[in-house]
Parts: sequence; structure tokens; C-alpha cells
Amino acid sequence: MISIKTEDELAIMQENGRLLAQILHELVSEVRPNRSTGFFNRLAIERIAACGGESAFDRFAGFPGVINTSINEEVVHGVPSEERLLQSGDLFSIDIGMIRNGFCVDMATTVGVGVIGEAAERLLGVGEQSLWEGIKAVRIAKRLSDVSHAIGAYVEAQGFHVVREYVGHGIGRDLHEDPQIPNYGPPGRGVRLRAGMTLAIEPMVKVDDLPTCVRDDQWTVVTATGGLSVHFEHTVAVTRDGAEVLTLRR
Ligand code: MG
Repeated sequence: MISIKTEDELAIMQENGRLLAQILHELVSEVRPNRSTGFFNRLAIERIAACGGESAFDRFAGFPGVINTSINEEVVHGVPSEERLLQSGDLFSIDIGMIRNGFCVDMATTVGVGVIGEAAERLLGVGEQSLWEGIKAVRIAKRLSDVSHAIGAYVEAQGFHVVREYVGHGIGRDLHEDPQIPNYGPPGRGVRLRAGMTLAIEPMVKVDDLPTCVRDDQWTVVTATGGLSVHFEHTVAVTRDGAEVLTLRR
């Protein structure tokens, strides 16, 4: 069932989204070579607690960390570690989810560490833009797969590929609610979008077109070829005017 949020519930999610965007901004500003991925997890724990929230990932998903830290060929669900150090040239994805006052928000971004190559730079640009293509497709009375199609068609036109095994999702009292939001597929299918729906739209974009694999740690999703992958996510609310991005710094 897809939950429709009241004005009061949306106000909580707006506030949570603003706070989470600020936290992710702080994490990103600390990205540099030789920092461990565990460093970012510790900082996230501190910052989430400081604003009165809890991690949505350890609470709902049983994940061993409050953020996913995924580097290069790691697509999503990378486990933070004090031993894993960032290196110049890496693409570093941070996915973070918070529950506060009963409602979840979820977001992700990928950034370059130090100096990155031209191909990595291009993948980053396409990945970020693909999220905005999806957000632009959010309109009342349009169908859910119009969002999926907007993302997938854009990415393929740029010569990259979306991950098909993992999808975006509705979000609210739970981290993962209905509906599932694939990042590909034909338009004009699925439920009609209604004001008060809240969606976590999250394209994962990679250079190869093969199914992903999961490492022996049972969490880290990697590309089959070792090719690069990026991940961008916002939590948005469907409004009368389109989409309101909740996870923005304001
Ligand atoms: Mg998500």
C-alpha cells in the first residue's frame, strides 16, 4: 500500500530532509585521500544523534553501519571500515538514511576523491543528472514508470547503464515502503502519482551492462566487470506543482 502523507507528516519529513542534507554536506566536505570509510560512519553517528535522529539503516535494514560507503566498482551497501582508506582518483558514494520524529528520509551522493579521471568525471555528471531527470518526471497524474523511464532513457542515451537489481522506493514511517521505483522501463505504467506520496528516487549508474554481484561480506554490491558505478538519491514529495525535493539544504 502506498501511504499518502498529511501536511503535518510532510512538514516533519521536510525538516528531516533539510537536516539530513546538511549532515551529508558535512560528510562530503571531509572527503580526502587517506580518510577511512569508518571515519565517515563515526561522523554520521555523531551528527545524526546531535539532531535527535537515529540511523534508518541499522534500524530497518540490519546494516552494519549508519551509512553505506561504496568505492569505485562498489555500487551500494559498502560496509564502513577503519581499514578501508580513500585514495585520490576514487569515486566515493555515501548513502545515508535517518528516522526522526517517526519519519524516514534517505539520500545518497557520489563524489570524486582528490583528482579523478575524465571518464569518472563524465559518469558522475550523468549519474547526478539522471536523478534530476527522474525528479523532473514527477507530476501528479503521471504514472510511476514515467519516472523510471526518464532515468533509464537518459542514462542509456549517454552511453551508460542503470543497475536493474536495486530500485528506489516509497518512504515514510518505514525506510522502504511501496511502491518500488525501478530506474528503467517503458513509460505509462504503474500507479498514478498523487499529492502526498513521498518517494526515494535513486539511480545507480555504471559503465557496464551486466548484472551486479554481491561480495562475500553479503552486503557490498559490485559491478560484474569491476567498472565504475555511481549513486545519487533524493527523497521527494509529490505536490500539486510537481516534486518537492525534501533532502535539500535550505
Ligand atoms: Mg534508498
